[in-house]
Amino acid sequence: MTTEPSFRESVDIMFNRAVKLMDLSPGLEQKIRVCNSTYTVRFGVRLRGEIHTFTGYRSVHSEHMEPVKGGIRFSMSVEQDEVEALAALMTYKCALVQAPFGGSKGGLRIDPREWDEHEMEQITRRFAYELIKRDLINPSQNVPAPDMGTGEREMAWIVDQYRRMNTTDINAAACVTGKPINAGGIQGRVEATGRGVQYALREFFRYDEDKAKANLTGTLKDKLVIVQGLGNVGYHAAKFVSEEDGSKVIAVIERDGAVVNPDGLNIELLKEHVTMTGGVKDFLAGEFIEDGASVLEMDCDILIPAALEGVINLTNADRIKANLIIEAANGPITSGADEILVNKGVVIIPDLYANAGGVTVSYFEWVKNLSHIRFGRMQRRQEETRHQLLLNELQRLGDDPSINWELSDSFKSKYLKGADELELVRSGLDDSMRAAYQSMRAVWHNRDDVPDLRTAAFIVSIERVAASYRSKGL
Ligand code: GLU
Repeated sequence: MTTEPSFRESVDIMFNRAVKLMDLSPGLEQKIRVCNSTYTVRFGVRLRGEIHTFTGYRSVHSEHMEPVKGGIRFSMSVEQDEVEALAALMTYKCALVQAPFGGSKGGLRIDPREWDEHEMEQITRRFAYELIKRDLINPSQNVPAPDMGTGEREMAWIVDQYRRMNTTDINAAACVTGKPINAGGIQGRVEATGRGVQYALREFFRYDEDKAKANLTGTLKDKLVIVQGLGNVGYHAAKFVSEEDGSKVIAVIERDGAVVNPDGLNIELLKEHVTMTGGVKDFLAGEFIEDGASVLEMDCDILIPAALEGVINLTNADRIKANLIIEAANGPITSGADEILVNKGVVIIPDLYANAGGVTVSYFEWVKNLSHIRFGRMQRRQEETRHQLLLNELQRLGDDPSINWELSDSFKSKYLKGADELELVRSGLDDSMRAAYQSMRAVWHNRDDVPDLRTAAFIVSIERVAASYRSKGL
């Protein structure tokens, strides 16, 4: 049996497939590939009457642009190889969506479900203290964000910790993104990664040539979708494509198994059930299947792995039946599985593009924090006033008895409304996702030697990172 490489090796293999098709000097190629540094910290926190030691990491992959950016993960699977792989993906992801950051990632080896809220706060603050002390959390050098096992709550603790240690830093709020609104966050950040997956799918479905490669036609409507993981990313992606685009989510795979319903699952109800019971078992509107992994192999049009890395690997790749896989998680397909799937003709929308919605909106949040003003605050009412002016004029013309038209109320109210922060964020996200897809597909279609979207995505990203190193004279 062929053994699977580690996550980091897997990312390197995919990187190598792309650089083979590029004209980079070996020195530069090596410089881009390697992780610049990984800081490991072991710290103790007194909890439940004794000292518990935790291990955490913050890895910086590339500093061709600063600050470097990437989430902090709380999970028992956290280890150096994993954070380094994830940090590398952040570099390529940011380059692809043109978020002006280098790549970084952090992690703490912990099972957050084992600790209650005030214990988690102590642990998070202590970890943040260790990173802040070394400028591994800093608005101009390294800006973390949520990832698996972390969310707004942890980001609020981190920004507060940073403020306590940097009382005069006027840009303190920009030291971390994914914060709650009342702690300097931005509208639309929580949904951003899932929203980005939806925008990525919509963009893919705009091109007949691309759909044809996946043997698909039409739009997202009635497409059969399987989602793995109903966490923040999987939940939002599944919710948006089913509620807004008419796709049918026929199966959801979670920790305890899978729930299947050929008529489509109601994601909102299922999410409530998962939040209440901790799993999908006993959800009434579907059949429960204990062997969740087997459901990855069910017939469907679109498979959305939105949980862990390495779930589609050498053991199951040849049995995957989906025509299109969109990697909402980081690294769900191993390099070996990727090769098998591409040879079978499966189209894969790769992680470095598919889940870049999170960091894209993080970029907007960081800009908001640095500019100290909410998006839309200056122009919204002015925009409404100008629209009102136009409506008044149109109505004046319409009142002429020879014309006699009446603008509909629904048009008037929609047209009059100036964009609020959420609408602006979504518009910026949509634009970023479309532009990135277009740069990727141009390479995919224009070059005979580029077999798939992943290789194309890596080529676009690496070219941008290389250009930045070259202009620095490195
Ligand atoms: N953790 C997310 C990711 O993997 C978001 C990173 C960020 O917003 O900086 O892309």
